Amino acid sequence: MKIPLSNPYIEEKDINAVVEVLKTPNLSLGPKLSEFEEKMASYAGCKYAVAVNSGTSALHLAVKALGLKEGDEVIVPPFTFVASSNCVIFEGAKPVFADVNPETYNLDPKEIEKKITSKTKAIIPVDVFGYPCYKEEINEIAKKHNLKVIEDSAEALGSKENGKMAGTFGDCGIYAFYPNKQITTGEGGMLVTNNKEIYDLAKSIRNQGRSINNEWLDHERLGYNFRLSDINCALGISQLEKIEEIVEKRNKVALKYYDLLKGIDNIKLPPLPKENIRMSWFVFVIQVKNRDLFIEKLREKEIGCSAYFPCVHLMKFYKEKYGYKEGDFPISENISKKTMAIPFHTNLSEKEIKTVCDNIIKINNEINR
Ligand SMILES: *Cc1c(COP(=O)(O)O)cnc(C)c1O
Repeated sequence: MKIPLSNPYIEEKDINAVVEVLKTPNLSLGPKLSEFEEKMASYAGCKYAVAVNSGTSALHLAVKALGLKEGDEVIVPPFTFVASSNCVIFEGAKPVFADVNPETYNLDPKEIEKKITSKTKAIIPVDVFGYPCYKEEINEIAKKHNLKVIEDSAEALGSKENGKMAGTFGDCGIYAFYPNKQITTGEGGMLVTNNKEIYDLAKSIRNQGRSINNEWLDHERLGYNFRLSDINCALGISQLEKIEEIVEKRNKVALKYYDLLKGIDNIKLPPLPKENIRMSWFVFVIQVKNRDLFIEKLREKEIGCSAYFPCVHLMKFYKEKYGYKEGDFPISENISKKTMAIPFHTNLSEKEIKTVCDNIIKINNEINR
């Protein structure tokens, strides 16, 4: 039985929603765009949402809308997807890494303070694997030092901390809709904010720097084409309708994994949410011994798995540009050497979970005795 790492949850009604748009003349900048944005803002519990063509574009838009630029430093975790820190470089600013908490894998507030200089302008906390990231503590630090906060909640749509949605704590937040995320638009992303100024700027920059009221070919600032088509938005609306079902089903999958894998030597499970947290699981990542060999063996059994995440500061480009080296962020590096994502999606069946776990236990016995 071949078991993929991930699988989008597409039903007939998602397909129909897309097909309906194709029968209209509004394939972009049509009614589905504003509908998707309004529904997303309402779900997140914030005032404004701006849909864009990827999570990376949403991050870039956030950096640009907050005016981060050359000479500025932005604090980001090294244990994340590369886009969390690339977005800073896009605008000529410098990503400055701060190490993470060994249990939650999230940016450690204590480490942030050590990295603040007179050049620091913003923090980008990431809700790694869907686990929300001490936002209130981070906001306090930001306030104290007059810094902006961009939440990379690409992996955490639906996660809550103290009853408040991940993505809505900072100046702005972003979500992403690549097919392995909780909901998908094929490709897509969303910036959310309560700040009207950021909202207006983001809408303009997304659409080639056009002012909202001006003529089509009047561009009042440097902008990009980050637009998300109505075809994608229709899929997004249809997917968002079932987000609570998705969060619930994914939670069941995670708990089943917990059941079958807990207490096994040399296997460390991801953190379970604390009382003040509602977790929207993005992936299921375990720590194992001999991780690379483990991956090889699991793949031989046609079970999807992946080393997740390699540290950003150790990527070739970062080492060359900023001189980062092995040993700079020992907690992140230590996690990164052992972590492995195993099959995880909304409709992973009990039988599939059992097969994955049986194989993991067997391989663990073989190679880590
Ligand atoms: C998925 C993801 C993004 C955005 O990815 P896109 O593929 O551009 O949509 C950004 N940050 C994190 C942490 C992610 O997991």
